Amino acid sequence: MDKQYDIIIHGAGISGLVLALSLVRGSTSCKVSVLLLDRNMPKLQPQIHESPCSVNDFDNRVFALNEASKKLLENIVVWPGKDNDRIFPYKHMHVWDAGGKGQIHFDALEAGTAFLGYIVEGRVMRDWLVRAVGEEPMIDMRGDVALNQYETVDGGLRLHLSSGDSLTTRLLVAADGAQSPVRQLVGIDAVGWSYHQQAVVAIVETGIHHADTAWQRFLPEGPLAFLPVQQPWCSIVWSVPEQQAEHLCSMPEQEFAEHLMAAFQRRLGRIKVVGPRAKFPLKLLHARRYTANRSALIADAAHTVHPLAGQGLNLGLLDVSALSRRIAEATAKGQDIGGRRVLRAYERSRKGNNYLMQGSFDLLERLFSNDQLVLAYLRNTGLNIVNGLVPVKNAFVREAMG
Ligand SMILES: Cc1cc2nc3c(=O)[nH]c(=O)nc-3n(C[C@H](O)[C@H](O)[C@H](O)COP(=O)(O)OP(=O)(O)OC[C@H]3O[C@@H](n4cnc5c(N)ncnc54)[C@H](O)[C@@H]3O)c2cc1C
Repeated sequence: MDKQYDIIIHGAGISGLVLALSLVRGSTSCKVSVLLLDRNMPKLQPQIHESPCSVNDFDNRVFALNEASKKLLENIVVWPGKDNDRIFPYKHMHVWDAGGKGQIHFDALEAGTAFLGYIVEGRVMRDWLVRAVGEEPMIDMRGDVALNQYETVDGGLRLHLSSGDSLTTRLLVAADGAQSPVRQLVGIDAVGWSYHQQAVVAIVETGIHHADTAWQRFLPEGPLAFLPVQQPWCSIVWSVPEQQAEHLCSMPEQEFAEHLMAAFQRRLGRIKVVGPRAKFPLKLLHARRYTANRSALIADAAHTVHPLAGQGLNLGLLDVSALSRRIAEATAKGQDIGGRRVLRAYERSRKGNNYLMQGSFDLLERLFSNDQLVLAYLRNTGLNIVNGLVPVKNAFVREAMG
């Protein structure tokens, strides 16, 4: 007989792992059995918990997490206590435009909060989550396996795996990223376009202290961000046209550092590149629906955004909160967790907000990657006006904090 799980999550990236834990821990725990499936088995990395960290084990892929994401990770007891060496809170954000004198500065104190956000390495966060999943008897995890096909059965779905096994579940969740094979399998269309840009990421050493500030300069070809991590390092995210990304990743380190310094106007002094570079294609994507027969999409499987605002994962984690809350409520009321009513409620609670945020980031990208004189004048004037309007800036901060 097939093994049965209440919920099967396809994709054990950050959003899939957090969802699994949210279903069995904290305020949304609801005693369901969960299986996480991934084509790669996440590996634990013992050395990354030793502190202080060294540049050799520092991940060049980092996330800026907002307060809502931090609270969610606290709720499932994976956010480490104060003064952890692998979390880098920042208090300021400074943004300026290469096409004029416009700039805007956000300050945590001014907004009545301790921090604007937290920079955490992707590898470290995944490690916290995989360890926590390993402690949970209600969560199973299988790596090196993918979902090939499914069929509807009485009260659920039967899934056929690449390993030849079949399993049944009441709810299938796609947390399998932007290319989401499950989204395609269950027949949900997605709309979107490529930005024809790639984001180049790296860890760099800066001559001047980053001052616990997330810095971003908008250049006509795309934004360049310096995110503050352990002093004297910053993590950079530089969005550039595809060919330029190729070139930036293949040139010698010293030459890359010279390009970076010029693009960043040497705001943080001399730059030394201290780790490998990587690049990621950028596209906007939105699924037409978040739910189908006993299945739901979350995070990048449902929507992807330009990284200029550092919000992609934060939006995905809001999906996770919403879906786990709907499932907990349904379980408490004895409702079918894979039923239409529950899934529609989840979709209604997230889709509008995701569209709005995605549209805003896309508008910002178009506005700033444009060197028309009139537009440059308007956006620089706009930046300077908003910079003087503290209540408006605080409203932006509250939105960005989730
Ligand atoms: C350069 C860059 C910087 C960013 N910075 C930020 C930031 O600062 N803050 C922020 O909030 N967001 C940021 N984002 C967005 C963020 O990276 C994504 O939103 C987030 O990683 C999505 O997580 P996910 O779990 O939904 O998907 P993924 O991380 O893509 O995970 C999908 C999982 O599904 C598995 N999978 C895929 N296909 C299959 C298959 N066929 N079979 C089995 N398993 C499969 C994969 O192995 C993987 O484990 C950034 C994005 C980029 C590109």
